[in-house]
Amino acid sequence: MGMIVQKFGGSSVKNADLIHRAARRAIRAKIDGHQVVVVVSAMGDYTDQLVDLANQITDRPNRREMDQLLSTGEQISIALMAMAIHHAGHDAISLTGGQIGLKTYGAFGRARIREITQKTRMLQLLSEGNIVIVAGFQGVDESANVTTLGRGGSDTTAVALAAALGADTCEIYTDVDGIYTADPRIVPEARKLPFIYYDEMLELASLGAQVMHSRSIELGKNYGVTIHVRSSYTDAKGTDIVKEASDLQQVIVRGAALKKDLGRVEITGVPNRPGLASDIFKRVAEQGVIVDDIIQVIHEGGKTADISFTIDSADKRDADAVCSTFAKDTPGVAIKIREGIAKISVVGVGMRTHTGVASRMFEALHKANINIENISTSEIVISVLVKADDAPAALRAVHATFELAVETPEQIAPMS
Ligand code: ASP
Ligand code: MG
Repeated sequence: MGMIVQKFGGSSVKNADLIHRAARRAIRAKIDGHQVVVVVSAMGDYTDQLVDLANQITDRPNRREMDQLLSTGEQISIALMAMAIHHAGHDAISLTGGQIGLKTYGAFGRARIREITQKTRMLQLLSEGNIVIVAGFQGVDESANVTTLGRGGSDTTAVALAAALGADTCEIYTDVDGIYTADPRIVPEARKLPFIYYDEMLELASLGAQVMHSRSIELGKNYGVTIHVRSSYTDAKGTDIVKEASDLQQVIVRGAALKKDLGRVEITGVPNRPGLASDIFKRVAEQGVIVDDIIQVIHEGGKTADISFTIDSADKRDADAVCSTFAKDTPGVAIKIREGIAKISVVGVGMRTHTGVASRMFEALHKANINIENISTSEIVISVLVKADDAPAALRAVHATFELAVETPEQIAPMS
């Protein structure tokens, strides 16, 4: 029997009963003969409460102190989880990110993992019969400052540990029972996927499916860790996130996603000369605003251009501020920001080898009488922007046209 990493998200440890339940699950895996590493998040919405507290003290909390604060949530969970395992008569030890030598680099609040140095110690503890419990989401930088990996980052801790320790699987226990073809709250006939490929999951995660921290999937892909997403409330099998099989009967569209709360920045009358696009996007990047779907239209005669791009509504104020200074510095330019936009996407590795996906998607939207405001495509994704009010109907139309509710044999397991 091999090693297994089990990660329990906040909703799976939000009170004492659930901590006992998670503890029993870890103990069961150990009794089955596995070496068990458990990674936990902060209890329930404790991290949000800490963010809230910081904001009551100041509207601009220092980033280092913010990480010092947020990391405490996971420290509570690991200690309680160890106690729950002890209470059930088994050996367990809790360790913080610093104690496992999880070294990070990069900015506070979105640090990235460089390495995990205390592998030998963890393996020793496991071979002595302990369940090893590790605080997710946190590490230390080269100056021993506590850092955090970004919201939802416990997933990434779990997959990194599975990779570092050579575990067979990384199980992600959460409040949903797997990855669905679309959000079942919007598309009731959405189907739980038996498996999905890393690249598809990566795209879905960035296109609005909020199940997993994107970096964890990247890590899983790079180190070949099979990730199993499943419910902490049942024993039902969830969804495996796995390596792509070179199969000929590839599913064309695996799933569909809806990303809400987008805005569109429209800059008109931009003089059509070298350097202006670079000027705009440099300013925007300096503010840390993430942009997507950039379109430039050159007007007839070629004197001016309109440039538009999509942002997260949360970044509206920052985007507005930088674009307005750009407009002030550049005569003739006007800025408008439109809100209430959403993005509907379909994802599937089979699009690499199949054509006609886009036209089928557009036809479905047309039949549902939904106007498409913009289209963007990449190798395995087609996305359209629509009015936010139209988005749920658009998602349902797209889900139906690709018959995502129907399970075909090639969707049950990768066929190579
Ligand atoms: N507790 C952290 C958060 O709420 C990390 C995590 O849950 O993965 O973002
Ligand atoms: Mg989480």
